[in-house]
Amino acid sequence: MNCLPHYGPALRRTSARVRVGHVDIGGDAPVLVQSMTNTDTADIAGTVAQVAALARAGSEIVRVTVNTAEAAAAVPHIRDQLAAMGVNAPLVGDFHFNGHRLLTQHPACAEALAKLRINPGNVGRGSKRDEQFATMIEFACRYDKPVRIGVNWGSLDPELIARMMDDNAKQAVPEEAAVITRRALVASAIDSAVLAEKLGLAHGKIVLSCKVSGVQDLIAVYRDLAARCNYALHLGLTEAGMGSKGIVASTAAMGVLLQEGIGDTIRVSLTPEPGGDRTREVIVAQEILQTMGLRSFTPMVIACPGCGRTTSTFFQVLAERIQSYLREQMPQWRGKHPGVETMNVAVMGCVVNGPGESKHANIGISLPGSGENPVAPVFVDGVKTVTLKGDKIAEEFQDIVEKYVHDKYPAVVERAVA
Ligand code: SF4
Repeated sequence: MNCLPHYGPALRRTSARVRVGHVDIGGDAPVLVQSMTNTDTADIAGTVAQVAALARAGSEIVRVTVNTAEAAAAVPHIRDQLAAMGVNAPLVGDFHFNGHRLLTQHPACAEALAKLRINPGNVGRGSKRDEQFATMIEFACRYDKPVRIGVNWGSLDPELIARMMDDNAKQAVPEEAAVITRRALVASAIDSAVLAEKLGLAHGKIVLSCKVSGVQDLIAVYRDLAARCNYALHLGLTEAGMGSKGIVASTAAMGVLLQEGIGDTIRVSLTPEPGGDRTREVIVAQEILQTMGLRSFTPMVIACPGCGRTTSTFFQVLAERIQSYLREQMPQWRGKHPGVETMNVAVMGCVVNGPGESKHANIGISLPGSGENPVAPVFVDGVKTVTLKGDKIAEEFQDIVEKYVHDKYPAVVERAVA
């Protein structure tokens, strides 16, 4: 009898399904990967190139900032040029402060976008706030576009937070300011969504997000948000940071929430290193979902960390080479070899765990460790098929992987004939 309890993601929270271009957020749709450009949207060529790169890396929705009249005027051209290139990732326009004016002056921008993102903390102050919010919702309704109401810790509606802090101060036992701030984030999102519905936007046209930069704050805020509404939720840790810190913080926060079934679409807000590749945030988002077993995007390489038993860096080079090769092939393989994204490839550094781990993978290679025979047994579907040696191990192993893909995941055309 197997006494081990079952561990796995909780059932997804039931959320309203929102159509965005040709994809769905929420309902029983898979958790989508989103990204955002960092180009000046008025730079049409630069923005087209970056959206195309993000989409090819696997971003299923791409957001662009719409902050000036030039940016708003550029959006329809960006959409058209992407379509001519065969890139159909839905475009989301990110509006703050002047969104009401830009949409009024450039209605073609609203028409070209697949979704609008509105930050209720940045739509205006005092009596202008509701009026300007209403103008933006009116455009969403007129062009039948969904809206993400995206609240952010750094731009929380100052009037709302001041009112809630005042009310808290009058309590016999006031709560901590951080608790009130978290509550204000959730209230801002839900109150704005309710107002949008009153203005005519359908319930199934609304996605909510409440982004903060602290891991524990994000978990607390989204648990509360998820419990209080069934709007589809966009998940992301804002200002996650650079490099490993940004990746670890995003993974820690989103991993907990996704495990609890919370989150319908995710973005990893990494700060790229100078000259760094913007597509990194897409790859990290995919890896979070894939390593959690929620989705499959690209064959995964299982590699040991190496230790004193490894004789050289050769196995690191091979692991890196195979990982890059698999990722580079995916744009062609994705449509041609369905199922290949679930493949596992093991690259191991010695005999201690090498053969065992390799047998569990679809294909695995156990490289020789210190003091071992300079040979590398290869395992295919758990069976040792060949032993590689000499200077061409990397090339020969790559050929074996390539053949495995063609045999195990036949090309769609070959499959139809068979
Ligand atoms: S498989 Fe071998 S080389 Fe790799 S970490 Fe384990 S003992 Fe070290």
